[in-house]
Amino acid sequence: MIIVMNRNATKSQIKDVLEYINQSGLKPVPLQGTERTVVAVIGDDRNLQKDALFGLSGVERVHSILKPYKLVSKEAKKVPSKVRVGDVVFGGKNVIIMAGPCAVENEEQLINIAKSVKKSGAKCLRGGAFKPRTGPYHFQGLAEKGLKYLAKAGRVTGLKIVTEVMDPRDVKLVSKYADILQIGTRNMQNYPLLKEVGKTDKPVLLKKGMSASYDEFLLAAEYIMSQGNREVILCERGIRTFEKYTRNTLDIGAVPALKELTHLPVIVDPSHGTGRKSMVKAMSKAAVAAGADGLILEVHTHPEKSIVDADQTISTRQFRELMADLKKIARINERKI
Ligand code: PEP
Ligand code: MN
Repeated sequence: MIIVMNRNATKSQIKDVLEYINQSGLKPVPLQGTERTVVAVIGDDRNLQKDALFGLSGVERVHSILKPYKLVSKEAKKVPSKVRVGDVVFGGKNVIIMAGPCAVENEEQLINIAKSVKKSGAKCLRGGAFKPRTGPYHFQGLAEKGLKYLAKAGRVTGLKIVTEVMDPRDVKLVSKYADILQIGTRNMQNYPLLKEVGKTDKPVLLKKGMSASYDEFLLAAEYIMSQGNREVILCERGIRTFEKYTRNTLDIGAVPALKELTHLPVIVDPSHGTGRKSMVKAMSKAAVAAGADGLILEVHTHPEKSIVDADQTISTRQFRELMADLKKIARINERKI
């Protein structure tokens, strides 16, 4: 259920509404819009008396939310949410580009890549220190050593750091070094992990499960938000289909679809979305044209030497050229890179 306060509702009127919901054994979550406050009711609200709510002053409307998710829903909050990572803002006028290697390999490589992508206009550095590999004998990442290299690259370049956390027990450790916590496709439905990152104050980049529906994806985001963390960025990264030519089928339609369903920023990963470096440029342009709030790209100074995902990693030179094209496309959408 959603309680829409009127534009002039006072702080004490809002407080009365929150108290009433609390007393009814439910959890109120105030959502601050530009014009008014909306209060989402979390929990089984079937017995909550609509009439009694109407009796409280400052309440303009009360309506039920039809979707299974509430906090992420457009029904609860119509205006797009901005997720701020220092001076980098997702969901605003700027399209935010995140770039870097698939995995952190060594300090020198990382710093070189970071300097190069920063020069081309990236705002965030990506790189996995904990790698979710399909086989147990594949390179698993440098763990804390990799996180330290990332933090150093961040200090040297001013880029914000986004890196994956796979285990609820590592959330504190990764939070120490990262600016944005990434939840990978394989963990989109790892509910203990979602709850754990939901308890932090770090923005979360949530990647869509490779076989998840939009509803399942948004419910995963709801898990994070229900724990108090409102800073969630959604990422389309391709889905499993019967096609074998590409690693995944990148669902560009997810961008406008999710924007109809949620107020959260939506970004796209054309690297994992295609698995082919030859397709990354076209799909990056398509994603920005479709209205994505950002991209996350695998970029390396020597892509052929990447320990992980060499086939889908573009060179720093290709990235620089791509950025020039993306700037033009962003302008058509009245956005900036
Ligand atoms: C990644 O971005 O490093 C990654 C492993 O992506 P995904 O979870 O989308 O496969
Ligand atoms: Mn990768």
